[in-house]
Amino acid sequence: MDKTVDPMHILVIDDEQDLRDGSKRILTRMGFRVSTAARGIDGLQIIDSDPVAIVLLDLKMPGMDGMEVLEKIKETHDEIIVVVITGFATVETAIKAMKMGAYDFIPKPFDPDHLRIVVRRAHERVQLRHEAAQLEKDRQRTLADLDVEKSRIRTIVEALPSGVVVTDTEGTVVLMNPAFLWHLGLDAKLKPGKQIEHYIKDEGFCHMVRELSCGGCKKRLEPPSYEFALPNNRYLLAKGQAIAADDDHCLGAVIILVDISALKALDQLKSEFVAKVSHELRSPLSTIHEQLVMVEKKPTTDHYMLSRAREKTRGLISLIGDLLDLSRIEAGNVGNAATPVCLAELLHNIVDFIGTQAQERNQTLTLELPDTPVPKVTADPTALESIFGNLIANAIKYTQEGGVIAVRLNIRDNQVEVTVADNGFGMEADKLEKIFEKFYRVKNDKTRYITGTGLGLSIVKSLVEKLNGSISVVSKPDQGSSFTVRLPADAA
Ligand code: ADP
Repeated sequence: MDKTVDPMHILVIDDEQDLRDGSKRILTRMGFRVSTAARGIDGLQIIDSDPVAIVLLDLKMPGMDGMEVLEKIKETHDEIIVVVITGFATVETAIKAMKMGAYDFIPKPFDPDHLRIVVRRAHERVQLRHEAAQLEKDRQRTLADLDVEKSRIRTIVEALPSGVVVTDTEGTVVLMNPAFLWHLGLDAKLKPGKQIEHYIKDEGFCHMVRELSCGGCKKRLEPPSYEFALPNNRYLLAKGQAIAADDDHCLGAVIILVDISALKALDQLKSEFVAKVSHELRSPLSTIHEQLVMVEKKPTTDHYMLSRAREKTRGLISLIGDLLDLSRIEAGNVGNAATPVCLAELLHNIVDFIGTQAQERNQTLTLELPDTPVPKVTADPTALESIFGNLIANAIKYTQEGGVIAVRLNIRDNQVEVTVADNGFGMEADKLEKIFEKFYRVKNDKTRYITGTGLGLSIVKSLVEKLNGSISVVSKPDQGSSFTVRLPADAA
């Protein structure tokens, strides 16, 4: 039904003035809006300009007669309920009109009650049609909403970074998203419809999917999970859940695949780290133990043994100190007390303090500062001391007696640049990346007897990066090494 139709609008088409006026009065009292027309042609015009719900139509009129008007109404406005009024009510005329689509008829002359009954019935019909149309509209909208919802969910599943696969009770794949194919390294064009084993060969995974699919593991709080490896060091974690219908019977399973390769690598690193630390702690501790046993066996105190044991414990304490420093830096607990620091002064103090070690080895340790004022660097002073203290101490350690170590400070592109250069043992090019790794130490004839933990440079690197700076190294065997740290300078 046309939505602009007023369901309370009635049109009376009759050439008799009294009947028009009388009907209008009765119907208006019933609450209808009533229009009237004396001729068929006028009635049709009203229908076009102000749509009506019900027409009371006299069949016998001069000019265009009622049957013709009825025909026209049915042609163009089939939704209008037409009640024919006939002065010589014969069964044939009534039947003819009804066959042409009239809803009801009322014989002339009629009393007001008869009119009311017929019009009320017609109006009920209008309302029913109206409600039916409304219901249909709602149904259409719900269907459209469902469609939108369906495509929205599909888009989301397709876009998920985790792999999703859905199987039926037989373990046949009914849905899989692109990430599922991608994680398994399968052809992106592969279609669902085959058994799970067709897509993935891992026995454990397929077993889990099959168990879930046939309802073997009914809905649980903690869904079953399964980890498996793919070639080239990739690891996937699968978590699944049985899909249960309202009556609790199983419809299949949904399984999510997540790439856990990065977590696995981290796990591996952790294990390696623990193994390295244990190794680093075990050998000096067993030496100390042996030395103490020997001292114990001797009747007099063996000072030599004791001092060697003390040396070893010093090494261990420094290792543990470095490890603690590292864990503090990595937990983000270092470098928080930032304040503007004058690097020239800080370097001066370090060179002064550490200079005695260089003197013991007859080395020359110098500090070169620019002529222009040096901008400050905002950083935790302890972090800066640790960075440059480590670099200068290394330069002293890895340079022969009588060598030269120069610490230079420069300003370049809003950065303060500190270089610690020595003419010591130097390193081969392939070692330069590794020396920043935890526990890495270059082992050769020259470094064999130099003690250290292999943690200093990794501490330096972590600290420099925490300060948004960078560190680089140039080195050549037997010619020396030069470490350069760049840190952002404060605005002048
Ligand atoms: P450590 O000095 O405790 O061994 P570091 O992490 O400070 O550990 O250094 C790692 C390795 O880098 C050292 O073992 C050494 O072989 C090499 N290295 C560091 N600084 C220098 C340097 N100035 N000259 C030559 N080799 C160096």
